[in-house]
Amino acid sequence: MSTTAAPFTATILGSPRIGPNRELKRAVEKYWSGRIDRAELESAAAALRRDTWASLVAAGLDSVPVNTFSYYDQMLDTAVLVGALPTRVGGITDDLDRYFAAARGNDEIAPLEMTKWFDTNYHYLVPEFRPDTSFSLNPVKVLAELEEARAQGVPARPVIIGPVTFLALSKAAEDSVGAPSPIARLDELVEIYAELLGVLVDHGVEWVQFDEPVLVTDMVDNAAELAERAYARLGGLTKRPAIFVATYFGELTDALPALVRTPVEAIGVDLVAGSAAALAAVPELKDKLLVAGVVDGRNVWRTDLDRALGTLDSLRGSAKAVAVSTSCSTLHVPYTLDAEPDIDAALRSWLAFGLEKVTEVVALARGLGQGRDTISAEIAASNAAIASRTSDPRLNNGQVRERISSIVASGAKRGPADQRRTAQQERLKLPALPTTTIGSYPQTSAIRIARADLRSGKIDAAEYNRRMKAEIADVIALQEQLGLDVLVHGEPERNDMVQYFAEQLDGFFATQNGWVQSYGSRCVRPPILYGDVARPEPMTVEWIIYAQSLTDKPVKGMLTGPVTILAWSFVRDDQPLADTAAQVALAIRDETVDLQSAGIAIIQVDEPALRELLPLRSKDKEDYLRWAVDAFRLSTSGVADSTQIHTHLCYSEFGEVIGAIADLDADVTSIEAARSHMEVLDDLNAAGFSNSVGPGVYDIHSPRVPGVEEIATSLREALKAVPAERLWVNPDCGLKTRTTDEVTESLKHLVTATAKVRAG
Ligand code: GLN
Ligand code: ZN
Repeated sequence: MSTTAAPFTATILGSPRIGPNRELKRAVEKYWSGRIDRAELESAAAALRRDTWASLVAAGLDSVPVNTFSYYDQMLDTAVLVGALPTRVGGITDDLDRYFAAARGNDEIAPLEMTKWFDTNYHYLVPEFRPDTSFSLNPVKVLAELEEARAQGVPARPVIIGPVTFLALSKAAEDSVGAPSPIARLDELVEIYAELLGVLVDHGVEWVQFDEPVLVTDMVDNAAELAERAYARLGGLTKRPAIFVATYFGELTDALPALVRTPVEAIGVDLVAGSAAALAAVPELKDKLLVAGVVDGRNVWRTDLDRALGTLDSLRGSAKAVAVSTSCSTLHVPYTLDAEPDIDAALRSWLAFGLEKVTEVVALARGLGQGRDTISAEIAASNAAIASRTSDPRLNNGQVRERISSIVASGAKRGPADQRRTAQQERLKLPALPTTTIGSYPQTSAIRIARADLRSGKIDAAEYNRRMKAEIADVIALQEQLGLDVLVHGEPERNDMVQYFAEQLDGFFATQNGWVQSYGSRCVRPPILYGDVARPEPMTVEWIIYAQSLTDKPVKGMLTGPVTILAWSFVRDDQPLADTAAQVALAIRDETVDLQSAGIAIIQVDEPALRELLPLRSKDKEDYLRWAVDAFRLSTSGVADSTQIHTHLCYSEFGEVIGAIADLDADVTSIEAARSHMEVLDDLNAAGFSNSVGPGVYDIHSPRVPGVEEIATSLREALKAVPAERLWVNPDCGLKTRTTDEVTESLKHLVTATAKVRAG
């Protein structure tokens, strides 16, 4: 070993940074709008870092991740570190303004693209490479945080995204087609990392963590080989800190022996997503510190300490030393259970959020180092919680389980697609190229005020309902006036398309303060799906029939699909996801049946997250897509052939799931396509899809109002791929982020363009 750093015993791979009460969100948003200056922003950020480190040290970690703070995103931070920001922000002299311009764009500059961080709900910014992108080391941020941590006496371990992952997640800039993919620049980038290691050792750093989650995926063909080359070079440096390569979100296969062959001192493995069994087969691991991620960093369940300690004990012989860790950064879970006053005692005992996970790591490290007896109280409490969880009747609703088996056994199938099309056309009598929208209308200030007033007790539920109905009436009147063919109620009553349902379903708990960062300053509060899911009563019917009572045009019932509900919740880990998905599907199915009985002729079941849950390894994809499609079909097959089922998909490259989209067999699929220029239609045709489709004709993510000609052109283009009887006209997503003026103008143009194209 070229360093003398002592191995650590207890750590986490990273932690939340948005603040226990979203302090960072508030501070950056104030800074963006000019309400605070840079000094105020920096002091808010420094206070958060200080508190985070203090709590991690107090809890007993002997190595603490630093440089995990970010004003926006860690991939963007890494781009800054290696000097690879896009040239279009190069003209901005202030470093923080330049950083935020890359993240958010401004009037002249387009922001970096944002996409999902592996299979989590965190979104990172995608660095862009041009053939002339050159690297240069800019370690200001990491050194500043190190210095702060050192002043606080923190055993700091800087965390940096590793070179293989950084390049694998970057892309060639759109205007440099034909340029080699960023990963081709690995050797060059590794030299920057080599330089960084020299700087870090000069600053007294003993351990550095490089995150390489890409090694658990199939994203890069020869990832193991690339990692071996990179870490052989970095590990071969004589002047450097000890290197810890952290991997997470899945199992290392061939990359494990590859990493083990390099001179790095520590390797981190995710033992929640992967198994410990494979580790014993790698004899050279005996020279390394194995950082065992036995505490789930991305879900909210309390660790089975007895079992985790068993796993840790079994690893003793496999490595030179074993440290205890979370499986990944706790960025993906809320700060602490203490911020949730309303959880019942049993449910509370089953959970562990960020801080509680740190306590588990520390207990396990003590148990491993000093013997099981030293944590017998902790193990007893964990065993009691697990016993309470397995025996709780809320986790085992016999009626739900029986109903699912009997529906599945009876086939859960609708009639053939052409038979449905005929029955629906007879009932709905829609014109060719029917016009519609995706569901939500602008979140007006009246809606926000009503929600706040209800929360603060200023108004009661009856008054809230009255205000929501007034919003619905406005939205219906607007759509009538615009001349749309299929109307929606506008979703004013929904705070969020998943939480709204979670709050009404048994088996879910909606947290009060369980915020996690989704991207930049945006946070979400995923509900906790802890038990068997059941629907005590209808969830949407009252609103939809009210909307339908105001118009002769059909109003679409609007539901969120089972896969999306799972994707945006913390889901129980005691049974296969497929089983949980079926339970959610049953609740949605019951809702569709009630909507149909109330006279609703069209029901949309949104699945924007279909692509999100796609497993990271190719071998697992088929199984996932099978149960995802089954769940959607279970949720939509309870209605008559004459009831039209729509679905909506967005946020993604559909390539890998295109066959599954066809298999959903919805009567009408609206799909984000405004930016992918109808390619998706060709792909759907190639997948044998022959139901109706509404490729978004304009991009709702921008305030720009599309012109009539532009929409007409896009429709004519779509008609080359799909005949008029199968083509719907709609925006590419819900309208809730837009203003009423933008929506009114855009939809006016959409209706006019459709009339023009219908006329030929
Ligand atoms: N029906 C939802 C809406 O219009 C769909 C949102 C989404 O696609 N993410 O807001
Ligand atoms: Zn959408």
